[in-house]
Amino acid sequence: MSGAKVVSDAPEAARELAERVGCAKSVVFFGGAGVSTASGIPDFRSEDGLYHQKFKYPPEEMLSHEFYLTHAEEFFDFYRTRMIALGAKPNQAHHKLAELEREGKLAAVVTQNIDGLHQAAGSKRVFELHGSVHRNICQRCGHVYPAEWIMGTTGIPHCEKCGGRIKPDVVLYGESLDEKTLAGAAEAIQSCDMLIIGGTSLVVYPAAGLVRYFQGDDLVIVNRLPTPQDSAADLVCACDIAKAFAF
Ligand SMILES: [Zn+2]
Repeated sequence: MSGAKVVSDAPEAARELAERVGCAKSVVFFGGAGVSTASGIPDFRSEDGLYHQKFKYPPEEMLSHEFYLTHAEEFFDFYRTRMIALGAKPNQAHHKLAELEREGKLAAVVTQNIDGLHQAAGSKRVFELHGSVHRNICQRCGHVYPAEWIMGTTGIPHCEKCGGRIKPDVVLYGESLDEKTLAGAAEAIQSCDMLIIGGTSLVVYPAAGLVRYFQGDDLVIVNRLPTPQDSAADLVCACDIAKAFAF
């Protein structure tokens, strides 16, 4: 059964989105890599993304906990050059979502991105399912270092206070998601009456599973390409995410 209205014209999508958000009591946004690519951050899975570039090791391997432990220097080299993107700026989607939260319309952002751009735009309640490059934690004393500090180090960074090993607060392959974050995201999705899913194909765990918590009455998907959930949506905006949030 397919009841979704599909809009591919960006200005029309923005008008439609504005109207629906206006009618909603409580909105939650669930975002994937597409939200960040609109800010120039490469998508790990897209055609020109990291997985299609040539590295000495496959990116999946370099982004694994095992690699972090056994090839720490190469891991941090990859982390500094490919994962931390300090020059990236929030786009219109980030800005609009922050504005909607300030207005009391948006309850939470759930994101699969690790770039901190939602917070940079002013969002406060953000569930970062895969962590953030902006927190790098000493495994011995717990001191937290910002991404800028990591960028100022070379080789394997060590804690300035105790010499301990630093671990980015990013969920690597082979690691499980933070349970508190996951539970908070599920609760937020369960409690809202409008869920906007943006910039994700919804095929990657845990996106598909979390969407099942939604019990509200307006499900909107903003993604340039079709997703497996399109038929369950009320509105599908098949356009650029930043343009869809230009309202
Ligand atoms: Zn330490």
